[in-house]
Amino acid sequence: MSTKPAYKRILLKLSGEALMGSSQFGISSEVMTFLANEIKGIVDAGVEVALVVGGGNIFRGEGLARGGMDRITGDHMGMLATVINGLAIQDAIERIGLQARVQSALRINEVCEDYIRRKAQRHLEKGRVVIFAAGTGNPFFTTDSAAALRAVEVSADLLLKATKVDGIYTADPKKDPKATKYSTLTYDQALDQRLSVMDQTALVLCRDNKMKLRVYDMDRPGALMKIVMGDDTIGTHVT
Ligand code: UDP
Repeated sequence: MSTKPAYKRILLKLSGEALMGSSQFGISSEVMTFLANEIKGIVDAGVEVALVVGGGNIFRGEGLARGGMDRITGDHMGMLATVINGLAIQDAIERIGLQARVQSALRINEVCEDYIRRKAQRHLEKGRVVIFAAGTGNPFFTTDSAAALRAVEVSADLLLKATKVDGIYTADPKKDPKATKYSTLTYDQALDQRLSVMDQTALVLCRDNKMKLRVYDMDRPGALMKIVMGDDTIGTHVT
């Protein structure tokens, strides 16, 4: 492996659930500190880092709608939940000496910046971590789609999806002991087989814009650094 990063700019998608740790709800401060340090490692190595954060640890529009709430109101709550998570990550990252900016797709100017692509790119060039919150700003979308969209918009060299397993499997490895891991996949295979890697909108957007995707285990210390340094053995590649 070389000492120079293999990727200049990456976009890391963190689901809301990834922030809960072992809890059933909310944000784990241990997970935040762990993630902030993993991110600091790669920023110090010269990688420009953008994040998209989910909100499933707090609210999901679909779940709220199942309980009787208007879906669009539920989605608004879900998007606001991603802003809460984004602020928590911004705080954790700044506490260890990096600069970070939350940019929201919904305007909440007292709390964070608006999403402005050119401004985001300038922050990235200056070594600031940019956290894209509020998804796409529209109901009926997911933060996976927001991650695909922002990755394409800021010309990321790689979209990374952090999960609880070390890649994409033929079936859920926690439920099916016979499940095997893919080392590589095409977007068409993921779409045809309806693999639960990302939603279909996100996969199509990545495919059509030739965005490289890697799915990896976020709990493995050092995995993020290895990936950006060019270790191709980690996780599943989707191209
Ligand atoms: N959401 C939305 N539009 C978007 C992104 C998200 O309405 O562009 C809402 C939606 O209700 C979703 C919630 O925000 O359920 C949280 O996002 P997501 O479920 O993608 O979070 P994750 O599963 O990554 O934690």
